[in-house]
Amino acid sequence: MIDRKPYMKKFVETEVAKKTINPVEKSGDIDYDLYWNTLERLNNCRECMLCYDVCGALKLNDWDYIGPGAMAQVAFRHLDPYDQADRVEQAVFSGIWKCVMCGSCEIVCPSQIPHVKLLAMLRTEAEKRNMKPEGSDNYNFWEN
Ligand code: SF4
Ligand code: SF4
Repeated sequence: MIDRKPYMKKFVETEVAKKTINPVEKSGDIDYDLYWNTLERLNNCRECMLCYDVCGALKLNDWDYIGPGAMAQVAFRHLDPYDQADRVEQAVFSGIWKCVMCGSCEIVCPSQIPHVKLLAMLRTEAEKRNMKPEGSDNYNFWEN
């Protein structure tokens, strides 16, 4: 049994509502592969909180990290062609480098969300923009 309450708080506090400045006028530019293989899967999060229960970063009691479920939704918005908020910046301020890349969240996720790939994508995007915080060691479970 999982106490979902403290985890749900992180989900609710993370602003992942779509932010669109210009109304969407046409659907001709939709990347259907991206839509069906990634966005649709991310949309299937069941909010079961299993990923929070096994998260190595949260087990270190590092509550500055929003956790895998909410971070996957940040990635969802980053990939969403109709979302116009800066999700890379959001990921950085939400503790993307607190993650130790252990992959446990992905192993337990019943919705088969590719957490590790998404976490790596957000980190890469942040590094391209020199947004990696000073002193973050970019720890990778599999490389240590
Ligand atoms: S384990 Fe998967 S389905 Fe469950 S909350 Fe985490 S991301 Fe969502
Ligand atoms: S990969 Fe990162 S987010 Fe997923 S369980 Fe490990 S520390 Fe948590």
